[in-house]
Amino acid sequence: MKYLIVFAVVFIAIYLWRKGRRDELRSRPPPPAAPRQVPPPESMTRCAHCGLHLPQADAIAGPDGSYCSQAHRQAGAR
Ligand SMILES: [Zn+2]
Repeated sequence: MKYLIVFAVVFIAIYLWRKGRRDELRSRPPPPAAPRQVPPPESMTRCAHCGLHLPQADAIAGPDGSYCSQAHRQAGAR
């Protein structure tokens, strides 16, 4: 009989502890949606020789447009 009382007390304690945790979780406001860090769109260009699309910043300017590499700039537009 003594063990039954101890068991009941432990059970109630665990129940109250879990209930408290649940209430704590419920009372906490949901985390605000993190603003997505979207990089600004980079302007793309097309290699006049091979047609590869590459960022404007990486392109090499040539007489007939942009090129992906120095070799293609020298090869020129097709
Ligand atoms: Zn190219």
